[in-house]
Amino acid sequence: MIKNKKRIIIKIGSNLLIENNNIRKDWLETLAKDIVSLKKSGKEIIIVTSGAIGIGKKSLKNKKGLTLKEKQAACAIGQIELMHSYQEIFAKNNLKIGQVLLTSLDSSDRGAYLNAKNTFLTLIKNDVIAIVNENDTVATEEIRIGDNDRLAARVCQMVEADLLILLSDIDGFYDKNPKINKDAKFIDLIEKIDKKIENMASNSISEVGTGGMITKLKAAKMAFNAGCDTVIASGKENHAIQKLIEGGKHSLFKSNKKKIKSKKAWIIDDFNAKGELIINECAVVALKKNSSLLPVGVVKIKGRFEEGDNILIKDEKNNHIATGISAYSSGNAKLIIGKNTSQIKEIFGQKIKEELVHKNNLVII
Ligand code: ADP
Repeated sequence: MIKNKKRIIIKIGSNLLIENNNIRKDWLETLAKDIVSLKKSGKEIIIVTSGAIGIGKKSLKNKKGLTLKEKQAACAIGQIELMHSYQEIFAKNNLKIGQVLLTSLDSSDRGAYLNAKNTFLTLIKNDVIAIVNENDTVATEEIRIGDNDRLAARVCQMVEADLLILLSDIDGFYDKNPKINKDAKFIDLIEKIDKKIENMASNSISEVGTGGMITKLKAAKMAFNAGCDTVIASGKENHAIQKLIEGGKHSLFKSNKKKIKSKKAWIIDDFNAKGELIINECAVVALKKNSSLLPVGVVKIKGRFEEGDNILIKDEKNNHIATGISAYSSGNAKLIIGKNTSQIKEIFGQKIKEELVHKNNLVII
């Protein structure tokens, strides 16, 4: 499952790294050693790590039921210690690291997304392992991704990764939460993420973790749609990655989709969508035949967006038909919907973009 994968994202759950508010340095040492052997076999690795809150908490006066501000303060404190441990232990193993802190804005704004993507690719080119975390000190509730499972999946989309490994305190995906259901059945291979599978991931939020299985499944779905496989496995023991390579227990979400380009992955990620275009039946037929979306086929605009923002395209029955990048702001788009090209020229002059969403910036769902 790892053998023919080149670009691999490894997400470390907070339960693995932290014990009694301290970093499990021995465990991290074995992770570094596993990464050395992965790199020797030509793999490119990015790590997404949780744990900053868990470490930083010990320096706060309040220990239980932290407010958002306290959580952000704990992250500010814990992030340095976390990175210090990575740097120290990875350097001992001749691995260079770089810190990348992201918020959802970095991935919803196309310019910031490209910057982040280029930083990752440049780090990879320079043989440096990016260690990624959410930038919790600036991320308010509205702009948080909120869990590192989906953050890791977004990194997968950005760098067109081949495999996402979610190391957790659980050894894989079960038909119900095995911590509270003794009869839960282990599922080793998932080839389609449908409602039935989604219902199996009851939300259990651990003491230091924030995601539970629901966010892992959401992450697996994002990766799946981008043509990237996902593995959920236990990372509790030392040499977790090595054990996985040797055939250790895991659940594999196997994507049957063709690997899609970073730009298309960005487009289809609903998380980025700023508004909606409601289109008529003729426009639905045209889009399905690979045409661009012209203003004449649009009946309504919802939300506020700028030129270059991501928008959902729906039919009049609210079915999601496509997602794309708008060539107009919502303000200007409102002036031209339902109009043909010559009418639009009367409003904006000769030099206009005829398409509201060009077919190169459009993905049919
Ligand atoms: P991490 O901190 O590693 O991201 P979490 O604690 O957030 O991990 O999520 C893993 C937990 O999700 C498991 O320990 C388990 O209690 C819970 N869980 C809920 N539903 C399921 C399921 N269907 N299969 C496996 N684990 C599940």
